[in-house]
Formats: sequence, C-alpha cells, structure tokens
Amino acid sequence: MHQLTLAEIARGLADKKFSSEELTKTLLARIAQLDPQLNSFITLTEDLALQQAKAADARRANGETGALLGAPIGHKDLFCTLGVRTSCGSKMLDNFKAPYDATVVSKLAAAGAVTLGKTNMDEFAMGSANESSYYGAVKNPWNLEHVPGGSSGGSAAAVAARLLPAATGTDTGGSIRQPAALTNLTGLKPTYGRVSRWGMIAYASSLDQGGPLARTAEDCAILLQGMAGFDPQDSTSIDEPVPDYSASLNGSLQGLRIGVPKEYFSEGLDPRIAELIHTSVKELEKLGAVIKTISLPNMQHAIPAYYVIAPAEASSNLSRFDGVRFGHRCEDPKDLTDLYKRSRAEGFGPEVQRRILVGAYALSAGYYDAYYLQAQKIRRLIKNDFMTAFNEVDIILGPTTPNPAWKIGAKNSDPVSAYLEDVYTITANLAGLPGLSMPAGFVDGLPVGVQLLAPYFQEGRLLNVAHQYQLHTDWHTRSPAGF
Ligand code: GLN
Repeated sequence: MHQLTLAEIARGLADKKFSSEELTKTLLARIAQLDPQLNSFITLTEDLALQQAKAADARRANGETGALLGAPIGHKDLFCTLGVRTSCGSKMLDNFKAPYDATVVSKLAAAGAVTLGKTNMDEFAMGSANESSYYGAVKNPWNLEHVPGGSSGGSAAAVAARLLPAATGTDTGGSIRQPAALTNLTGLKPTYGRVSRWGMIAYASSLDQGGPLARTAEDCAILLQGMAGFDPQDSTSIDEPVPDYSASLNGSLQGLRIGVPKEYFSEGLDPRIAELIHTSVKELEKLGAVIKTISLPNMQHAIPAYYVIAPAEASSNLSRFDGVRFGHRCEDPKDLTDLYKRSRAEGFGPEVQRRILVGAYALSAGYYDAYYLQAQKIRRLIKNDFMTAFNEVDIILGPTTPNPAWKIGAKNSDPVSAYLEDVYTITANLAGLPGLSMPAGFVDGLPVGVQLLAPYFQEGRLLNVAHQYQLHTDWHTRSPAGF
C-alpha cells in the first residue's frame, strides 16, 4: 500500500479496496519501523490521524467523494497545527503548541486529508541541507550519508522513502524544489500569493510560499488544489480563481516554446547534471516542444540580493521570539535585557543567529540604502529579465541544482558554498514566479532534478509539462533501495 500515489489512493478508496483507517495504520507502522534511519518527522500525530481517517471513511460511506478524502499527508513543521507542537525545527519553539491551524492545514483537513505528523526541517526554514534542525539532520533515503536537501528535507525524505504519499513544504529560495530534486520527487513552488501564508511561521515574508511535494506531477496537482486559494487573513493572498489543476495535466505539448537560459550552463554546474538536462530537453522536443536559447542577464546577482533581502526580513520576523510571550525562556533572568539576550542566544541555533546578524546589519541606519535598497533594485531587474523572456517562451527550463546531494557535514565549515546551491531556484522567489522540479535521472546513484518556471499563475502549465514528461519517462517511479 505504501507504494501508492495520491491518485491511486483516491481510486483505491473510491473502489473500497481499502479504508483510510487501514492505510493510515499501515503507514504509521512503516514510519515507526523506518523513520529512525531517516529522522524525517519531528512529531507524529497518531491519534489525530486515526480520528481523521475514521471521519474520512464515514464521509465516503455517506457518498462524499474527493481526491484528498482519506489521503494521508504530512505537514512541514512550520505550519501551525492546533494543539500540536509546531517547532519550526527550533529549540525556540520546542515547547510551542499552536493555538490555531494554518489556513493550509485547515483547508486540507476540510478536504479530508489525514495528518500523520509534522516533518523535520531546517531551523526556521534557513538552509538547503536540513542539517540546521534542532532535532538533528535528516538523511537522504537514496544514500543515508547524504543530505536530503532543505529546508523541507523531512517532507522530501518521508515522501521519497514511501512513508507518505505527499507532504506540504515551503519555498523561500528553493526549499521545495531543491529537496525534491535531491530525493527524486516532484515539487512545486506556486506563484507568490497563490497559497495562503496565514499560520505559516514566517522566514522572509516577501519570498515565502507553501506548496506540494509528491512523487508525481499528478499528485502535486491534487495537493495544490487543496492548498491554493484566496485567504482574507493573508494580505498578500491573491484573489484569483483557482483552476482545476488535474484537468490541466493532459494538454498537448505541441508547439510549446521552451526557453533554456544560456547562463544556466556556466561553470559550477556538474557536467553530468548538464547532460541529464539536455536529455530531458530532447525528450520534451520529441513531445512537440520547440526549444530556444534565451538569456537571463541579471541571474548572477540573485544570490547576493537574496542573502540581503531574506536575512533582513528574517531579522524583523524573528524579533517576536523574545522569551516573553511564547517560546524558549532562559532560567532566572536578572533583568529584561538579560531575558531577551539569553533566551534568544539559547533558543536560536548558529545559522539563525548568523542570518539575524546579517539582516540587522543590512537594515541598520546608514547601510539600508547600500544593501537593502540596492538588493530590491536587483530584484526588479531579475523580474524584468523574466518578463522579457516570457514574451518569447512559455516555459523556462534548466537544472534545479548545480550538484547532487552532498555528504552530511561536508559544507558545515563553509556556509557560502551551501548558499551557492540555490543559484537556480532563488530567482523564482525574487520574482514571485511559480517553479517546479521533477526527476531527470541519477548521478552516482543520487537523483537529479530538472526545473521548469512559468509566468504568474501558470501552475497548470508547469503541471501539464511535468505530467506529459512523466508519461514518457520513468525516473519518477524509481524508489530508493531499502525503502
Ligand atoms: N537555502 C535557502 C536559504 O537558506 C532557501 C531556504 C528556503 O527556501 N526556505 O535561505
């Protein structure tokens, strides 16, 4: 049963081949047996899951239908879940039980999804290796000595290891697409504003976006359908109708114009990954797509701009964790300043502290114009590059990451080398565009992803291209040995 995709689960439940309760029990047992190797969960919600599964079975018995009704999923541990620990991967929130559900959580629960647990993540979603979690590193099921990517590494490892058919993630600079690439999954970062951020603990508010991680594009369509939509509680949520994503999967790719940016194939890209990307381009050409070389001239400025903007917003967002209202509080503070200082020094790990310092510096008087304002100007140039490119092409294609998954610990002494791994993903966040990563092959037994980017609100187009590709390739069906 654990090999089933969301789409297959929906059919199995509709045909009464098994109940949601049976499926939930099977997966919970599998998690108990296998997750100690991976560390992909922070909290399991067995009681909630069984209660939701029984309720979904009762709804089906009453004639209700729905692709998510009775489907087991996991939530990245930065989506607030009522009465359940929501840690954000941090000691700071180890004792925090959310007093409400995030919009994404309540929407999926209303659609009948069953929450098996909260998945591990980089602390406050800062990272690309899932090594900065207070709860320990997550292992990549394709090779337990390697990272699964981050920051949604727990969701990715759990889905790749068939502990869950799908899970939620968030993507501020690549945290859905990059772990999807490194674990052989399909992951979608929607257009900024497509999925509500209400109840999603903020890292960098102008970049954060929730989205689905699953094995196939078809399953991403199902999960996104349950997550997307206008939310009056989120002032950046956009009031655009949500199309039927599953209905968009079957469009023909005949005449689809795919742009391949020449800047993507510069030094820094593993040549074996470049070759796999070229192979996937040829595959799409066979399906009728027309390939065009394009240019994104400001791409080289994306990482420096991101690493000013994201830490600046993080330093502001994380100022609320002061040991007073919620979260970790130090023992016996001698005065208020001591309370703030020690609570934050004890509660936040080194990567989070580094980002807060960088962000506070970039925003400080005298430096704002030199750093933050400058970075915002670059952001506009990057967006303009995309707008120009999308006048000529329908989709932009390239690698998701420059390298396959690295060994746990390999980049610990050099955070900048980890930052460089986001080179292909960050631009979509700076511009607010939707992006998808899908499996494209293997290098040394480790998965490689191909990234597709589309104009605003064209998630359906991304899913369509990925689904057609997956009908003609079998990379996404491979599962890691031992799982
Ligand atoms: N790796 C990037 C960072 O550390 C992106 C993380 C994310 O998308 N949440 O900021």
